[in-house]
Amino acid sequence: MAVFVLDRQKTPLMPCTEKRARLLLERGRAVVVRLAPFTIRLKDRIGGAIQPLRLKLDPGSRVTGLALVRESEARDPETGLVERLEHGLWFGELAHRGQVIREALTLRCQYRRARRARKTRYRAPRFLNRTRRAGWLPPSLQHRLDTTLNWVQRLRRLAPITALSQELVRFDTQALQSPEISGVEYQHGELAGYEVREYLLEKWHRTCAYCGATHVPLEIEHIVPRARGGSDRVSNLTLACRPCNERKSHRPIEDFLQRQPALLHQIQAQAQAPLKDAAAVNATRWALLNALKTTGLPVETGSGGRTKFNRTRLNLPKTHALDAACVGAVDQVRDWNRPVLAIRATGRGAYSRTRTFNNGFPRGYLIRHKRVHGFQTGDWVRAEVPKGKKAGVHVGRVAVRRTGSFNIQAQAGTVQGISYRHCRLLQRADGYGYSFQLKPEMEAARRAA
Ligand SMILES: [Zn+2]
Repeated sequence: MAVFVLDRQKTPLMPCTEKRARLLLERGRAVVVRLAPFTIRLKDRIGGAIQPLRLKLDPGSRVTGLALVRESEARDPETGLVERLEHGLWFGELAHRGQVIREALTLRCQYRRARRARKTRYRAPRFLNRTRRAGWLPPSLQHRLDTTLNWVQRLRRLAPITALSQELVRFDTQALQSPEISGVEYQHGELAGYEVREYLLEKWHRTCAYCGATHVPLEIEHIVPRARGGSDRVSNLTLACRPCNERKSHRPIEDFLQRQPALLHQIQAQAQAPLKDAAAVNATRWALLNALKTTGLPVETGSGGRTKFNRTRLNLPKTHALDAACVGAVDQVRDWNRPVLAIRATGRGAYSRTRTFNNGFPRGYLIRHKRVHGFQTGDWVRAEVPKGKKAGVHVGRVAVRRTGSFNIQAQAGTVQGISYRHCRLLQRADGYGYSFQLKPEMEAARRAA
């Protein structure tokens, strides 16, 4: 994983290798600024040569992939065409906490409803007395936008990023409708195939049209079989699982579904209805694009079909970070087999000072101040316990208690009851938790085993 480098005035320089960073630190030429992402500051340098760096984003509902790449161009010796090369420097996966936010707000809503319904004076429900500004997003989605943008800004402070890429839409409708629109891949129709697949997955809700199976490999199915003159138009295509596809074979759909007239009617109607553009592009991704544009950097956008096309063509494993590296126009990705920094949005604690049981009755109270003996919940600490049952070294996120006996979320599991006396601060809480993932190839091997 590349190490971020700042100069004496905290201006970002080109990231360096781990080995170089180790040498610089050993010789006393640099100091450590942050542990995650690992950043050093040179003590004797101002300014330096800079190459174009691109930050690529693959926004997802649970996890957003981040890939920082160095761009270069190379001429293919056989074809003579100029190829766009990417050298992977740093990869990250940002896990959002939209679901947690959603659940917390639902809980609050239930408390308020229960309070209104209690035997007390009448309180009118308040639901129509609020205005929503233009561009309002639900809090769970706004959080996704905010955290993604936050990481773009953080990485810009650590590396001289000159361009951004973002996956904007799942599939490119233009590639579906007019195959000859532009670009070599479009004319070959290969990329168009990927766009069609993404389109069908969205249109048929990732389920088998005939039996409703989900989470199974789906195949593209011709409603009017090709053997009977059916076309390759999107309106003649649906998705079916392997068994259904084989059972239907080249029978006409009316024959295949003669005992399920309702399903037959529904499939025929859905096949004819074009998918609305709004279904393909979600509001959060557009909001993110508009926010990225305000950074002043050029923003390249790509479709999900293109990402998948690139990933398959380059034979890369499927991870969020590598999906990000495959966004947009790219011919080759190098140095992609690197460990990934897993970033988990944790929040900065709750506003409410009362902990409750499920039914809403108070269970206990939190302390009013956040800091205990110089530590606060979320700090990254290293505890060296000399003796006793918990003897050893524990590194992780700390949860403070008033007594000074802390809990540490180490990689192996939570260790309880560690005294503040044994703890040393590694990095202050910043609303995120960090851990490292294996290299994609090792991760794939682990999954296969
Ligand atoms: Zn099926």
